[in-house]
Amino acid sequence: MQTEAKTWGAYVQVPFCQTKCTYCNFHTGVVSRERYGPYADAVCREITEAATARELRGEGAATIDTVYFGGGTPSLLEPVALKRILDALRSGFGFARDGEMEITLEGDPETITGEKAAAWLGAGFNRVSLGVQSFNDIELKAAGRMHRRSDIFAAAEILRQAGFRNISMDLIAGLAHQTRESWEESIARLAEVRPEHISIYMLEIDEGSHLGKESLAGGSRYSAGAIPSDDAIADSYEWARVALRAAGYEHYEISNWGLPGFRSRHNLKYWRREPYLGFGAGAHSFDGAKRWANRHDSARYATNIEQGISTREQEQVVTRAEALEEELFLGLRQLEGVDLARIENSYDVDLSTRVAELREQGLVELHGTQLKLAPDRLSVSNGVLVELLS
Ligand code: SF4
Repeated sequence: MQTEAKTWGAYVQVPFCQTKCTYCNFHTGVVSRERYGPYADAVCREITEAATARELRGEGAATIDTVYFGGGTPSLLEPVALKRILDALRSGFGFARDGEMEITLEGDPETITGEKAAAWLGAGFNRVSLGVQSFNDIELKAAGRMHRRSDIFAAAEILRQAGFRNISMDLIAGLAHQTRESWEESIARLAEVRPEHISIYMLEIDEGSHLGKESLAGGSRYSAGAIPSDDAIADSYEWARVALRAAGYEHYEISNWGLPGFRSRHNLKYWRREPYLGFGAGAHSFDGAKRWANRHDSARYATNIEQGISTREQEQVVTRAEALEEELFLGLRQLEGVDLARIENSYDVDLSTRVAELREQGLVELHGTQLKLAPDRLSVSNGVLVELLS
């Protein structure tokens, strides 16, 4: 199904970090700072070339209204490099009017300074997403994070002083050494700092991460033995749901909460299958009909761009069956659910038997034609979604 949205999202991947967190399974690396500048140059060139190619193909304007710099740790790049990339996007594709733009920069609390924050605002960023993960120093240390609890308060203060009115913070339920008490304390401090947006992820141990390897091979260096049980993690998630609702946050997606008017507009594009362009190593794109991704290796990515060689590693036209799966899988992540009648009409399918079975099992709810995950099953949503699609 071709998406009809008129505006696009743009994602910029910055795959560099200061250290490797124990749970991380992303394609990110700890590299010399000298590589940051050339990487930013390569991203600018990719953007400019993509804009020119689009024009040559006569594909019309792709006005951008959300930009998201993710990683990795984009806040490690010099503000002037971040600005260069934003400027390339602005001149290559065109931005929506100022009040309609959401421009997010991901950062780690210990990398925030007053100087940087002012430069980011000046460059056009109006939202900062901080990888907080926990307010407990024992958990942060065990997870391999560079920041400590005091850095989080300091970063929030600096960003507010600089003038940021839209801050997001991420937390992880299930870090090593996390207890019910330490989790409640983290949520309480979070609600006190009162970011406009919150993401809470339940720890998943990937085989490729330090934690995953230690879980399989044994050892104590990364505290794999101190990871809470799956049931404890699900309980923590449920507890956070109740606490954040009481604090005035709207739970709008499985892992995301916002104060009224502060949902992540960029991420909503992913769940609604709206188009976005990704730039940088490993970045994904979707134009409504096909998906493609750049190669992950950041050094090869930069060399390819420099030599004028395509960086695309995968390109796939989304079939009708895949589009239907995506509508359900992505759409049901949103708590408001999906319009079952619209989906059945668009894809000419009858899902009534499958939905009836899942309702009987208490996994989903149907309100009119609106299909939603059952609220008490959100912590096991992946299993529910797999059932629905099987
Ligand atoms: S900061 Fe994020 S991307 Fe970097 S290692 Fe840690 S979890 Fe991975």
